[in-house]
Amino acid sequence: MALRLGFDIDGVLADFRAAFEAIARGGASIDTSPDPEDDEATEPLASREVRRVWSTVQRTSNWWTCLAAYEPAQIARLYSLSRGLRWEVVFMTRRPESSGDPVQFQTQWWLESHGFYLPAVVTVPGSRGDLANALRLDMVVDDQLHNCVDVVSGSPAKAILLLRDSGARALRDHAMSRGIGVVSTLREALDVLERAQHVLTERRGRLNRLIDWFQSGPDDSLPLKPRSPRPEPQE
Ligand SMILES: [Mg+2]
Repeated sequence: MALRLGFDIDGVLADFRAAFEAIARGGASIDTSPDPEDDEATEPLASREVRRVWSTVQRTSNWWTCLAAYEPAQIARLYSLSRGLRWEVVFMTRRPESSGDPVQFQTQWWLESHGFYLPAVVTVPGSRGDLANALRLDMVVDDQLHNCVDVVSGSPAKAILLLRDSGARALRDHAMSRGIGVVSTLREALDVLERAQHVLTERRGRLNRLIDWFQSGPDDSLPLKPRSPRPEPQE
């Protein structure tokens, strides 16, 4: 059995917060590298300021393609794992539109530029639990506790909370008391998912080995990078 996985994007893969705060601080360009010396970066924004920043986001052409990735190598790793372990991966986002291309295409473009080819992106507002249910997901990775709670209470899927703030101990304890796994990096989340896949496979160990007897022969997988030319079919 191969896993069906859902990944939230902002806060999990893309550093939305840094890009948003860069606009709030009046940066003309989107420099998303966080500056630990900058106290203003941690101050909460007033609601009027938040509206102004969203308005800038909406007017900026293809703004969603300009965000930095937290762990770029892990996005490429997720793609390799999904090909190697036959995972079906869905990326989920509630991003609002910005000018330029549709937000779905901007997000696909961004994912491909970080090494995840042919990504399935759904831009659905509303309950993550309903979405996990409809897509028959096994696990969802999200940086928001309320989304994780929504997933575990509204679907049979498990949830992993990606909590990059190591000081948020109360939030971590609360999540774990609800049966939600907690990790602090995308790398850690992928390690957990990889282990989960191996456990699932080992449970069917005997059957798998028997099946392997009948599966010898040439590897008929498509190329790892689908944008490369497809090899000629063998006679
Ligand atoms: Mg998020």
